[in-house]
Amino acid sequence: MADYYDVLEINREASASDIKKAYRKQAVKYHPDKNPDDSEAEKKFKEISEAYEVLSDDNKRSLYDRYGKDAVHGAHAGGGMHGGGFSSMDEALRTFMGAFGGGGGESVFESFFGGGGASSRGGGSQGRRQGAGKRVNITLTFEEAAKGVEKELAIQKNVACKECSGKGAASADGIKTCDRCGGQGQVFEQRGFFSMSMTCPKCNGEGKVITNPCKSCKGQGVVREKQHVKVSIPAGVDSGMRMKMSGYGDAGQGGGPPGDLYIFITVKEHEIFEREGNDLYLSLPISFTEAALGCKKDVPSLFNHTCRIAIPPGTQNGKVFRVRGEGFPTVNSMGNGDLLVSIFVETPSDLNKKQKDLLEEFAQMEVPANLPKKKSFLDKIKGIFK
Ligand SMILES: [Zn+2]
Ligand SMILES: [Zn+2]
Repeated sequence: MADYYDVLEINREASASDIKKAYRKQAVKYHPDKNPDDSEAEKKFKEISEAYEVLSDDNKRSLYDRYGKDAVHGAHAGGGMHGGGFSSMDEALRTFMGAFGGGGGESVFESFFGGGGASSRGGGSQGRRQGAGKRVNITLTFEEAAKGVEKELAIQKNVACKECSGKGAASADGIKTCDRCGGQGQVFEQRGFFSMSMTCPKCNGEGKVITNPCKSCKGQGVVREKQHVKVSIPAGVDSGMRMKMSGYGDAGQGGGPPGDLYIFITVKEHEIFEREGNDLYLSLPISFTEAALGCKKDVPSLFNHTCRIAIPPGTQNGKVFRVRGEGFPTVNSMGNGDLLVSIFVETPSDLNKKQKDLLEEFAQMEVPANLPKKKSFLDKIKGIFK
C-alpha cells in the first residue's frame, strides 16, 4: 500500500484539520453507500480510512513518520490491524463514523459541511472558526420546478450572540491570553528524544481563554436561533440538484466567516407528465376511430396554456408528436426542452349490440390496403410455411 500521506493527498506538514478535511473529502466520495458493489471503491475506502486512522492520532503519526507502517501496526496489535491494513469494512466504517462525529442521527452531509471539523485556521488568526454548513431539503411540485418559485425556509442555526457581539465574554477583560501556551495555541511535549507539538489542551488551540463567559451564550459567542430565509429557486430545477447560498449557514466563531447553506431539491412526480432531462413526456389516449379518421386534441402544458395537436388520419399507436419549446426551461440559461406526446390508441371494449353489428359490418368491408402492416406480415408467413 502507498504512503499514508500520498493516500490522503496531503503533504507531511499537514495539520490535524487538513488531515481530517482530506479524509472527509475522500471518504464521502468512496463511501460504500455511494458505491454499492464496487470493489475498487471499497478498497480505496479501506485504504484512506486506514491512513486517517494513523495520521489522525498524534502518537501513531509520529511513530509512522519515524519508523513506517510496521511500527504503527505493532503498536496497534490488539486493535485488529493485523498484517498491515484494514481487513474488514467494519473497521473502516468505524473510523468513518468517528471522523464524522458519530452516528447520533446526524447525516453524513450535515456534518461533512462543517460541524466544527471544517474549521479554517488562517495564518496567525488562532481561534477563527468558520461556521458549519447547513443542509435543507425542499420538495417542489412539477409546476414550481418548471416556473421557478420563491420559498421561505425556517432554519435552525447558530447566529452571533447579540449580548456579547459574538465574543463569548461578558466584558472586554473577560478574555485572557492562554497561560498554558502563551497565546500560541500549540504546546510542546517531550517524547523520548523528540519534541512534539500539539494543540493546547487548555484553550483548544484558540490561544485565548474566556475567564468571564457571557451568560447568554455561555461563552460560545453564538446562540441557536430560528431564522427565515427567502430563497429564489430558478425555473428548470430537477431532483438531485442542490443550491448553495454562501454565508447562510451557522455564524462563525472568534471572527471566522459563516458557513454556507445547501438546499437539496426534490421534485414531486406529476400525474400525467414525465420528465427526462428538460423534455416532457405525455401519453395521450385516443380512440381507434379518432386514430383512423384523424382529430385535433388540446393537451395541457406546464405553462397554463394548452397545445393543439393535429393527429392525421391513420395515426398508429405509439406515434410521437413533438411540440418544441414546451418542456422544462434550462436552469440559469436560455432555451426549453420539448413536449413529446406519445399516442396511445385505445381499443374499445364493452361494446353493445348495435356497436358490435356496426363493427362487424365494417370488418366485412375491410380491404388489405386498409392495413398494410397486417398484409405484409401475412405475406411473410405465407413464405415461411410454403
Ligand atoms: Zn492555550
Ligand atoms: Zn454571548
